Amino acid sequence: MSIFNNFKNPNYNNKIIIAGPCSIESYDQTIQTFDNLRKNKISFFRAGVWKPRTKPGGFEGLGEIALQWIEKYKSYWNNISFCCEVANREQTLLALKHGIDAVWIGARTTSNPFLVQEIADTIALTQRDLPVFIKNPTCVDIDLWEGAYLRFMNCGVTNLAFVHRGFKAYKETNYRNNPLWRYALQIHMKYPEVPMICDPSHIAGDSKYIREICQKANLYGYDGFMIESHYDPTIAWTDAKQQITPNELGQLLKELGNDMKNENEILLENYRKDVDSIDMQILELLRSRFEVTNRIGEFKRKNNIQVFQGNRFMELVNNLKQLNKIPESLIDEIWGSIHEESVREQNEIFMKKDEKTT
Ligand code: PEP
Ligand code: MN
Repeated sequence: MSIFNNFKNPNYNNKIIIAGPCSIESYDQTIQTFDNLRKNKISFFRAGVWKPRTKPGGFEGLGEIALQWIEKYKSYWNNISFCCEVANREQTLLALKHGIDAVWIGARTTSNPFLVQEIADTIALTQRDLPVFIKNPTCVDIDLWEGAYLRFMNCGVTNLAFVHRGFKAYKETNYRNNPLWRYALQIHMKYPEVPMICDPSHIAGDSKYIREICQKANLYGYDGFMIESHYDPTIAWTDAKQQITPNELGQLLKELGNDMKNENEILLENYRKDVDSIDMQILELLRSRFEVTNRIGEFKRKNNIQVFQGNRFMELVNNLKQLNKIPESLIDEIWGSIHEESVREQNEIFMKKDEKTT
């Protein structure tokens, strides 16, 4: 059984919720962000320790010192789990040395089979049961995504989840990355037992689209969310535009829960309306059936034919059973009762004859 079952959050429809800043920037930012996030009772805190930058010159993460802050923060609190991105053997060993509870493979790393293999081998040798989140590669190459999953599986690292963070958009779109849901759903359908997590922050690139992306992921039955959250996104060193505050995250998770409840309630209401309408039809048909059997009763009275015809009833029930629509025992029960009522009504009709003649 997957270790991720322990991280399904009953407060949020059993989704796995991962949240935290794009990058660790300072000890103060670590404390302020996680102190506020703790109120949301999420499954994993995320934090970027090494940042894979597409072009050189940007902030590339603080490295080991950030891991030390996380370790220190963890020592103050029970039951909190942290994950960070690792992109090679050395980073993986450092993350494990500082007690990181899970790692994720970034979109740029998933694209590189050598690095994926190196990380998989390292985890297999040191902490085989470590949960690993595998982001989709930046390019639309689903085989690379699946290939990364298989590399971990093949060396016995089996606590795996997929993270859908969208694909490099070559055309101008509202979103930073094109979600191309059908590709993520392909892999989700092929490995239904592997949790599929949506990363709306990296799909959106802008906090204003996060809710609509989460709603869509809910409709597709995703198992959780990885959302970037910073105590003050306006001063974030990386991905400032797409991060939300811990309070906004709390609000978002509450709204998503309500959305799901509403969607489910509407669905249930519609099903119930269908059942009500079918029951009305069954009732009308039953009444019509009794009217016909009563006419037969009149016929039997006029021609003095015995009301109860056992053979006819057996034949009718056997014909129905051969259609294989509902269990045979149910046919016996339902048509047994219907027949009993028909015989009762026909007998009443017979009694009327007796009343007339006496
Ligand atoms: C991140 O999660 O901060 C990150 C760099 O993501 P991705 O690999 O999806 O670009
Ligand atoms: Mn980021």
